[in-house]
Formats: sequence, C-alpha cells, structure tokens
Amino acid sequence: MPVSPMPLLPLPSDATVPHWVAGAPHQPPGEPTLPVFNPATGQVSRQVAMASVETVALAVAAAREAFVGWSQTPAIRRARVLNRFLALLNEHRDALAALITAEHGKVFSDAQGEVMRGIDIVEFACGIPQLLKGDHTEQVSTGIDNWTVRQPLGVVAGITPFNFPCMVPCWMFPLAIACGNTFVLKPSERDPSAALFMARLLKEAGLPDGVFNVVQGDRVAVDALIDHPDVKALSFVGSTPVAQAIYVRGAQHGKRVQALGGAKNHLVVMPDADVQATVDALIGAAYGSAGERCMAISVAVFVGDSAERVLPLLVERTKALKVGDGMDPSAEMGPIVTQQARDRIEGCIAAGVQEGAQLLVDGRGLVVAGREGGFFTGGTLFDHVTPEMRLYREEVFGPVLACVRVPDLGAAIELVNGHEFGNGVACFTQDGQVAREFSRRIEVGMVGINVPIPVPMAWHGFGGWKRSLFGDTHAYGEEGVRFYTRQKSVMQRWLGDIERGAEFAMPTAK
Ligand code: NAD
Repeated sequence: MPVSPMPLLPLPSDATVPHWVAGAPHQPPGEPTLPVFNPATGQVSRQVAMASVETVALAVAAAREAFVGWSQTPAIRRARVLNRFLALLNEHRDALAALITAEHGKVFSDAQGEVMRGIDIVEFACGIPQLLKGDHTEQVSTGIDNWTVRQPLGVVAGITPFNFPCMVPCWMFPLAIACGNTFVLKPSERDPSAALFMARLLKEAGLPDGVFNVVQGDRVAVDALIDHPDVKALSFVGSTPVAQAIYVRGAQHGKRVQALGGAKNHLVVMPDADVQATVDALIGAAYGSAGERCMAISVAVFVGDSAERVLPLLVERTKALKVGDGMDPSAEMGPIVTQQARDRIEGCIAAGVQEGAQLLVDGRGLVVAGREGGFFTGGTLFDHVTPEMRLYREEVFGPVLACVRVPDLGAAIELVNGHEFGNGVACFTQDGQVAREFSRRIEVGMVGINVPIPVPMAWHGFGGWKRSLFGDTHAYGEEGVRFYTRQKSVMQRWLGDIERGAEFAMPTAK
C-alpha cells in the first residue's frame, strides 16, 4: 500500500523510511521496522521499513515491467534523464550530505566529499552513448560484415554497506540504468534515507516509474533478491563473509555477481619519506570517517628507521584529534555508526592489548561534552604489531591504526602480499625507482604513491584483489559498463551475396 510522500528534508522524527516501488513510497501494513539512530546523540531519529519476500517481489515486478520500455529508449535519451538527475544532485548536494551525517555520523565536509564522488560517476554515466558504441568489421568474408553490440541484462540489484550511503549506490545504479537495465537497490538499514532521497530526485528528473526501486531491509531482502529468477545480476559491497556468501549463492543461480568485500590497507613508509606529509596522510586516512572506510589505512608499515622520525609526531597528532558531532565544523572525526560497532571496535583494542601489541594512544571510553549519549571512540594507535596478531589480520573498521616494523622494501612488499585482503595500499617515498618497483610487485587492486587513499576516478573503475573482491569486474568505469551489459555479435550478409549451395565445412574467410 503506497504511503503519502515524505518531504525531502527535514524528515519528521516519527517517520518511517519506506521502500520505493514503481515511482512511489511503499510501506505495507504490518511489515516490521527497525530504529535508525543519530550516532552523534545516540537517539533514535526514525524507523526504517524491513522488506519481506513479498515486498521484494513487488519491486522486482515493477522493475521487470519498466525494463520493456526503458531498454528500448535510445541511450542518448537515457543520458538526458541522467543529466537532469545530475543537475538535481548538484542542487541538493548539501541537503543529501546533511542527511548522511545525521545517520552515518561522518563529519559534514566528508559527507559533502562523498556526494561529490557519487556525482563523478553520474557524470561518467551521462556519456553512455559513447560507452555503448560497439565494434564493426566490414567484409570479414566475401559479402559478410560482423559487429558487436552491448545489450542490457534486465533487472539488476545492488546491495550496499552503511559507510557510503550515497557514493556506493552511485557506483552501481547510474551506470546500470544508463545501460538500459532497471534497478532494485537494497541500502544499509543503518542509514537508509540517502537512497530514498536519490529515488525522489530520479523521479523529478523524469526517470520512468519502476526503473529505479529501493527495498529497505536486511538479509531477508538480500536473500529474496538473490533467489528471484528475474534478477539477472547482483552488485554487492560490504564485508568479506557476506560478499563471499552472496557470490556463491548468486553463482549457484547462474547470476552475474560482483561482490566487493573488506580490507586491511597498508601504508608503507620508506626511510626517505617526507615526515610531515606522511603524518598528515596517516592521520587523515586512518581516522577520517572514524576509520569506517574500505580504503582507510589500518596498518602503517615502517621500513628501516622511519618509525623513529614519524611516530613521535603521529602520537601527538592522534592525541590531538578533534572528535565530535559531525555537524560541528571543528570536528575532524565523528562517532561510530552504532553502539554495537563502537563496542566491537573497543573489544578489538582490548584484544590487541592482550595479544601483546603496544598501545600508544587509547581512544576507548571517549565522552564528548554535550553529546554524552553519542557512540564515540577516540583515535587509537598501536606499535609493535606483528603479522600473527588478530589485530593485524582482521578488519577492525574503526579508528585504530596498527604499526608494524620491517627492515626493507622487500619485507614490506612480502608482508602486504601475504595478507588475505588486497583492496588499497600506499607507499610514501621520494625515490622513483622504489615507487615503480612497489607498484609493479604489490598484489593489491588500488595503489597510491604518496597518495594515502587512491580511490580511482569514475572512468578508471574501483576494485580490490584477493578476498577484497569476488567476481571478474571492478565497479564503475568501463568495467562497470561490461558488467551491466552482455555482448552480442551479429554476422550479416544479404541475399544478393549468398553463394548457392550448402556448406559442410567450417566457413573460413574467402
Ligand atoms: P555488511 O556486510 O554488514 O552489510 C552490507 C550489506 O549487506 C548491507 O546492506 C546489509 O544489510 C547486508 N547484509 C548484512 N549481513 C548480511 C547477510 N548475512 N546476508 C545478506 N546480506 C547481509 O557491511 P557493512 O557493515 O554495512 O559495511 C562495512 C563493510 O563493508 C566493511 O567490511 C568494509 O570494508 C566493506 N566495504 C567494502 C568496500 C569495497 O569497495 N571493497 C566499500 C565499502 C565498504
């Protein structure tokens, strides 16, 4: 049953964030809801609907119906709708960023950055006519031409994590719908409003109803999407165990799946690295967004004597981090997304101490004045972490930086390559030969040289290696276009060219 439209902002505190099906909010009576918190205050700010199998089926049916017309709409006209969406996103980007801060907790300037990185992908998707251009070969045999086209798959689904409620969905749906597919998004239940906000803007931009749908919820909705025969492909971003499970289950159903998982990103500090630049990079990349980024740096690898120069300043800066409500312009780091996540992170810190790592800065138990109920923890810094420790091996996904010491570049590369994750990595050095060697030999999908968080631009594609990505293609960029389309090869000759007589051997070029 459709419910009355929800205003874009402010969302009333007693509102339930609904699903979005066939171009309208949707919330069936009796469906359960889950509280959504403002992590800076610890207060429940609203509820979110939790989709049943029936709600997922409705959304998929709407998408399937819309596919008929949308897939036949010329690419240039699909691009025009995206162009209007782009203009609306730009117009409302601060409102969207404020919504992200209110549900995720990250500082407002970081939320603005997230929205901009989402906008980048929409800009890329607006060039879809060029991206869909096929290849053509004239006269592959006498009177025969051969060409390839890329056609949409049908209904495709996206399942996204809490940490980028705007940007990660934008890795998926703009390209998917630009390619002529229709889309069902299942955002994180922790911060569901950004998806609804974008659904409204898409409608305002003139997107036909049913092309973009949102089902809110948890595993029930995800499993229903994987098992639904009309869902042809799944894009997932989240933790590694869930990524792997979705990849396996999706493959069992014969679906195309790209599943991006967790990370443990290293920043290698060479002895010649600029100290100030290295400390700035480590502070921003380890503690920005409270370490809740899949490209956050969680391990600093000090080569040779680099630790002696970098660590004293790093300790000082970690202790001085300004932690507060993300809407406070002086805050550098906001709260953790939920109380459970905060408790889990502080548990990892306690386990690290037990394992024998040296705790240099302890962020546990931080209370922010005026925000006593918020889910805060401070920046934490460990030294003398070793590869056997769980603190080194497992993803903490919080503001915790582990320092490891190695003798030389070879040992640093071996350490990074031995880790099960391979999402992002960075090397800080002033030596071009070291930089070249590092980027060639490192087994990680995204590499930064003196760039701590090397998130590729919209036209390059995003993806890790090893257990950070299950599937064959990276997200967005030309890889994204390949993922959301299938190639068809057409070979053609006209009757006038046909030589009479049956052929019993494989035809060859004559
Ligand atoms: P998560 O895996 O808990 O949840 C991701 C999505 O899957 C959510 O929509 C959630 O509702 C759903 N989900 C959760 N458990 C499920 C289950 N058992 N079965 C089916 N669906 C399930 O991840 P999160 O906590 O929202 O996000 C943090 C994780 O995401 C971190 O591990 C981080 O590294 C990863 N991440 C990776 C990338 C990347 O590009 N590789 C980007 C962002 C986040």
